[in-house]
Amino acid sequence: MKPKTIRGMNDLLPEIIGTWRSLEKIVMQIVESYGFSEIRLPIIERTELFQRSIGADTDIVEKEMYTFKDRNDESITLRPEATASTVRAGITNGLLHNQQQKLWTMGPMFRYEKPQKGRYRQFHQFNVEAMGYEGPDIDAELIMMCARMWKVLNLKNLRLEINSLGNQDSRAIYRKELITYFSAHKEILDQNSLDRLHSNPLRILDSKNPELLSVIKEAPIMLDYLDSESKKHFDLLREYLDNANIKYKINPRLVRGLDYYNKTVFEWITDDLGAQGAVCSGGRYDGLVEKLGGRATPAVGWAMGIERLVSLYEISNERIANPAPHIYIVTDEGKALHKGFELSEELRESFPSLRFKLNMGGGSFKSQLKRADKSLAIYAIIIGEEEMKNNRVGFKPLRSNEDQIDIFSDTEGIHRHLSTDKTLDVFNAFREA
Ligand code: ATP
Ligand code: MG
Repeated sequence: MKPKTIRGMNDLLPEIIGTWRSLEKIVMQIVESYGFSEIRLPIIERTELFQRSIGADTDIVEKEMYTFKDRNDESITLRPEATASTVRAGITNGLLHNQQQKLWTMGPMFRYEKPQKGRYRQFHQFNVEAMGYEGPDIDAELIMMCARMWKVLNLKNLRLEINSLGNQDSRAIYRKELITYFSAHKEILDQNSLDRLHSNPLRILDSKNPELLSVIKEAPIMLDYLDSESKKHFDLLREYLDNANIKYKINPRLVRGLDYYNKTVFEWITDDLGAQGAVCSGGRYDGLVEKLGGRATPAVGWAMGIERLVSLYEISNERIANPAPHIYIVTDEGKALHKGFELSEELRESFPSLRFKLNMGGGSFKSQLKRADKSLAIYAIIIGEEEMKNNRVGFKPLRSNEDQIDIFSDTEGIHRHLSTDKTLDVFNAFREA
């Protein structure tokens, strides 16, 4: 019996890692080009952190959290998202008082969902959180950052939806209106929505049940109830986006599945990934820091699903190969292998940006060269007993029809050769080092 992974949790094999790493690196570079700094957080937090921040009547807290008792009988939870932990870290470490923080983090999240394409139980997010910023300028910048990512990654079919959830007071009025409206249509609601009718009626708008679509469509919309401050915030955000030439649709039904949001919420959606179309979602959470025990600090952030980003990228782009070795070193047994060890260590020292794979596990020249070819290396260096006597090694291009040549095996000889070799940028890699 082969051992299996836990349902919804995937191994990320080397063949896909090249794409993952490249995309992560590009996203990282882009967010850092806007002045964000990395923060790394624990994967486990106290359960109450998520209960208090995400809210009790949400899908995540009701049925998706991986919650356990530790050996000390404390309830701990594998993080289902990163905002709560980032805010917690800001308070724990005194990062927020009278300060502005632009933070990013990346890593696995855990939700006990029904696994399907684009929806897993362990998945990965890239998160940005900006804390200590009140105005809509930062909301706009966060969205512009996404637009830049799509541009750099050449992803075209992503559309932006935005909405405003107002402040606490205006939402309370809207809430009442929603309860009145949905109560008048009780016969259409499903059990889930009935359960939320009084505790969290906004979440009914977020329902994925197609039978509710028509009743949701006619429901009152938050934008009609916005307080003047939230309205100004929203109008300014739209002005910034218009000026930056970023297209969006106002979706009055966009409420987001977590309780902590207020004012701006947004989602980047694609139709290319089937039902799992939300690639990047975010919004403002001005009340969360205070709710978790810090001083009132306005904040806004987004989370991007890396699996969905990778899938979208792969629709219109080649998979990015894992870096192959530049040089595969083939040796005879005995003295030649000693020389192989010595030479490859020297080369790694002098060309830190090149990758050298010294043949391990012996084998005939023929089988070693087969491995060299399979490794996709650009060159093989061949160290045979014969050549050793003359202090020479074979230098064999593997990706062109050029002939094998003999070069001096002293480090300088190989150096001279490698540092003047322009084939496939070996020279540039040398210069970078
Ligand atoms: P969905 O509506 O698809 O359930 P969500 O609103 O629950 O998404 P968020 O909590 O906003 O998602 O998380 C941000 C992003 O993380 C999503 O836009 C999506 O790209 C990704 N994501 C969320 N849940 C999963 C999952 N189970 N598997 C893979 N990616 C996910
Ligand atoms: Mg969800």
